[in-house]
Amino acid sequence: MLIVMQPNATRPQIDAVCARISELGGTPRECTVADGLVIAVCGGVEPIGLQRLGRLEGVAQCLPVARSCKLVDRAARPEGTVVTVRGWPIGDGGLALIAGPCAVESKDQIFRVAEFVSECGVRFLRGGAYKPRSSPYAFQGLKEQGLRLLEAVGREFDLRIVTEVKDVQTLSAVAQAADVLQVGARNMQNFALLEAVGRLRKPVLLKRGMGATLNELYMAAEYVLSRGNLEVVLCERGIRTFETATRYTLDLSAVVLMKHDTHLPVVADPSHAVGIAWAVPPLVRAAVVAGADGVMVEVHPDPSRALSDGQQALTFDEFASLARDVRSLADWRARPADPRVAPGADHRCPEALAAR
Ligand code: PEP
Ligand code: MN
Repeated sequence: MLIVMQPNATRPQIDAVCARISELGGTPRECTVADGLVIAVCGGVEPIGLQRLGRLEGVAQCLPVARSCKLVDRAARPEGTVVTVRGWPIGDGGLALIAGPCAVESKDQIFRVAEFVSECGVRFLRGGAYKPRSSPYAFQGLKEQGLRLLEAVGREFDLRIVTEVKDVQTLSAVAQAADVLQVGARNMQNFALLEAVGRLRKPVLLKRGMGATLNELYMAAEYVLSRGNLEVVLCERGIRTFETATRYTLDLSAVVLMKHDTHLPVVADPSHAVGIAWAVPPLVRAAVVAGADGVMVEVHPDPSRALSDGQQALTFDEFASLARDVRSLADWRARPADPRVAPGADHRCPEALAAR
């Protein structure tokens, strides 16, 4: 709901509207627009009471807008959430490196990658056992066998395993092997899966759908949090735009906005976004400086032989040099303003604000 104030509305009239919103259980957010002031109503508010806001003095119009998400909003936890995965944090101000192959292909492959990335200081190993592929004829992953390999390699190198869960049917099997359950871009609005991972007490890496707005991503995260699982990490992995030179378009604005709008840790995945190995390192650096709490990077011992996404995988040498220099960039990171220090300093269009 948006409350558009009359251009000549006085401060006491504005304060009275805000007070009434709070009385109804909502949170008012003031937003200055070209010809006046709009107050966005955030949080769950009794709708009948809201309609009556139109009768208050100084109000020009009440506009219904999309439902807001309460639990992911930064206001719910201004200090930010740290997701700790068996002792290793994401969102604590450090930089989490999540690296590994697109898919687990063999024992030799996953052990070689794991050993190498752990020598580079990586604590989170990624690798799909159940692969969502555009083509039904493409390699679909080693499935159960892949999960067993991930368990073994995680133990061997003391790595935290990030692996994708494709559906509700395989969730309990994947959850046994995974330290972090990845919900992929194609499943971002699989509400049954979101509810199911929400009922577990295991960290979730929620990837933004390639055609999803940020509000849709926030709502997807809200599904998980509202079922009681508060350990969600958001991931920007590229969106579909008119540009065809890259696989998708890495939306760095999203990294900045997600840190601002929500209290959840944010990870960027330039590998899937750009889809070109040589373009990954500069985008990793850019994402870190933009405020990402972590980055996900695909690495393969021989990208020319990878069964999926070889075009975007870094070689060991490429990854080693990236891992060496990227940590120092974390000091340059943009930090979101603390809403307790800078309340209401948000000049986005009112529709975008109110939809939150
Ligand atoms: C992946 O990380 O392996 C993957 C399939 O990513 P996305 O869901 O972002 O396409
Ligand atoms: Mn991949």
